[in-house]
Amino acid sequence: ALRREDKKVVAVVGAGLVGALNACFFAKRGFEVEVFETREDIRKAKVVKGRSINLALSHRGRTALKHVGMEDKIVSKGIPMNARMIHSLSGKQSPIPYGKKGQYILSVDRANLNKELLTAAETYPNTKLNFDHKLQDWSAETGLMTFARPHGSKTQTQADLIVGCDGAFSAVRKQFLRRSRFNYSQTYIPHGYMELTMRPRNGEFAMKPNYLHIWPRNTFMMIALPNLDKTFTCTLFMPFEEFEKISTGDEVIEFFQKYFPDAIPLIGAATLRRDYFRLPAQAMVSVKCSPYHIGDKCVLMGDAAHAVVPFYGQGMNAGFEDCIVFDEIMNQFNEDFSAVLPEYSRVRVPDDHAIADLAMYNYVEVFSPALWSSGLLVIHSLEAGKTHSLFLCRKTSCFKISQRDL
Ligand code: FAD
Repeated sequence: ALRREDKKVVAVVGAGLVGALNACFFAKRGFEVEVFETREDIRKAKVVKGRSINLALSHRGRTALKHVGMEDKIVSKGIPMNARMIHSLSGKQSPIPYGKKGQYILSVDRANLNKELLTAAETYPNTKLNFDHKLQDWSAETGLMTFARPHGSKTQTQADLIVGCDGAFSAVRKQFLRRSRFNYSQTYIPHGYMELTMRPRNGEFAMKPNYLHIWPRNTFMMIALPNLDKTFTCTLFMPFEEFEKISTGDEVIEFFQKYFPDAIPLIGAATLRRDYFRLPAQAMVSVKCSPYHIGDKCVLMGDAAHAVVPFYGQGMNAGFEDCIVFDEIMNQFNEDFSAVLPEYSRVRVPDDHAIADLAMYNYVEVFSPALWSSGLLVIHSLEAGKTHSLFLCRKTSCFKISQRDL
C-alpha cells in the first residue's frame, strides 16, 4: 500500500470493542492505521463467538464514544436501565436506583456495538482493517509483527506504534512478560458464568425492561439485561463445582425451583432444560500489570492491560476511557510517542488497578451471604473516576459509610 511519508503507521492489534474504538481515535489524528484481528469480519460472519451478548454502557464509555461522534448512534440502540430490580426468593421485586432521578446506564448489544465501531473506523480513508490476522510475535526493537493467516501461511508488517487491544489473553502482552521490571498477576475466580435467553411473552418483554434484574442468592446470582428484540439475556453466576453438580434436565429444574422459582415460567422449563447444556460455563479472570508500555513502540489498552471481573460493569467502559486518556496525553506531548507512552502508564495504571480492585470487592460482596440475607446491600460508587464511596442500603434508606480518594 502507498503510504504518506510524513505519517506514522499505528498498528492496532485486536478489533474487539476497544481496538475498533481506538482505531477511530488514531485515524482521526491522521495516522496510517492498520487494524489486525484474528477473527473473520463479524459483520459478515454467520455466528459471532464472544463474551457476554449484551453489556452495560455507562458514563465513561459514552464519553469516549462521543469523542469519535458515535455516542448518539449507539445510545439510540441502547435500553436505559434506571435501577437494579432485586428479585427475592418469594418473587417479590424491589428496585434500587442507579443514581438520581433520570440517571441510568444502558444495556447495549455487544455485537452491534462492535460492528458499528468497525464501520466507523473504516470510514476513515487512512484506516485499513485486516481480518484473519492472528498476531504471533512482534519485536519491541523494530516493530515488526508476524501474523498467522488461515491455511497455515504467515505475513509480516512493521509499524511505528503497536497498540495491544487483543483482550485478556493478549499476544502483544506476551512480549512484555519476557522483559525485566514488568509486573504481572492474574487471578481466576471460583465462579463461572452461563447465559440463558428469556424470550418475549405475547410479543412483549417478559419482565419490566428498564431495569437490570438481579436474583441474589448467596453464592449464586443471576442477572438479566434487556435486548432490543424484547428478549432478556440472563447470566447465571455460580462456582464451577455447582455447575458441574447439575447433569440432567430434571436437576436444572430442581435447582431453579429452589433458587430462582419466578424465573422458570419466564424462561420456560423446556428452554431451561435444553439451554443449560448448550455451552459449558465460562471462566472469569482478573489481570493486572504495569507498566502498560515498552519504550516508544508499544502500549496496552482495554482488557489486554486490565481484564476485570464483570461485577462492577466497567471492563469495557474503563477500556473506552483508556482511549480518551491516551488521546489527551497525545495532545499534551504533541504526539511524541517517547513522551506519551510513559506518561500514559504513569497516569493510567493506578486508575485501571482501582477499577480492577473495585470489581473484585464487588465480587466478594455480592456473594457475601451475610449481607444479602440481612437485607443489606453494599454499593460502591466511583464518582468522576476519582472518589470511591461505599453505601450500605436497606429497602428504603441508603447510608454512605466510607469515602476515599483514589
Ligand atoms: P475483547 O473484547 O476481548 O477484544 C479483543 C479482540 O482481540 C478480539 O476481537 C479478539 O479476537 C482479538 N484478538 C485476540 N488475540 C488476538 C491476536 N493474537 N491477534 C489478533 N487479534 C487478536 N464491561 C462493561 O463495561 N460493562 C458490562 O456490563 C460488562 N459485562 C461483562 C459481562 C461478562 C460476562 C464479561 C465476561 C465481561 C463483561 N464486561 C463488561 C467486560 C468487557 O467484555 C471487556 O472489558 C471488553 O470486551 C474489553 O474489550 P477489549 O476490546 O479490550 O477486548
